Amino acid sequence: MGERRCRYCQEIFQPSKFQPRQTVCGEAECQRKRRTNYHRGKLASDPEYREGCRDSPRKWRARNPEYWKQYRQKNPAVVEQNRGQQKLRDQKRKLCNLANNTSALDLKHSAAQVWLIGSGAAHLANNNSAPAQVFVIQALPPRPFPPESSCKQHPAGSVANPAA
Ligand SMILES: [Zn+2]
Repeated sequence: MGERRCRYCQEIFQPSKFQPRQTVCGEAECQRKRRTNYHRGKLASDPEYREGCRDSPRKWRARNPEYWKQYRQKNPAVVEQNRGQQKLRDQKRKLCNLANNTSALDLKHSAAQVWLIGSGAAHLANNNSAPAQVFVIQALPPRPFPPESSCKQHPAGSVANPAA
């Protein structure tokens, strides 16, 4: 994919594969300029958009039910990003529900240790704003002792998966 020059900062950048016509780099300052310019241009050229800025968002949505649908179709990258963030929020809510559910075990005193590996680990360990993901895995109830026959089928030392 071709590199191009940002029309605000003049730096070379790689356009997003979701935005093949991107003309502004990803720097926050350039993106802010882009949004401001877009807003100004739209205010001048698009009466519907102008109305939208004047009205309460809810009233406007009720009158323009297709707007966000079209916006999502035109901006798949934004949709994807929002979806990811929503997923994280859902996970967090699920975990909170679990924690409030008295049938969930309190793991605060568990002996689990967390190991960070890889080149960035030292930095991560010292950075207490590092994001953390916690996985809560539902334990299976302990199985009853296997009947005699299954021991004969899988004698000790045999390969569990002969296909491997
Ligand atoms: Zn730029």
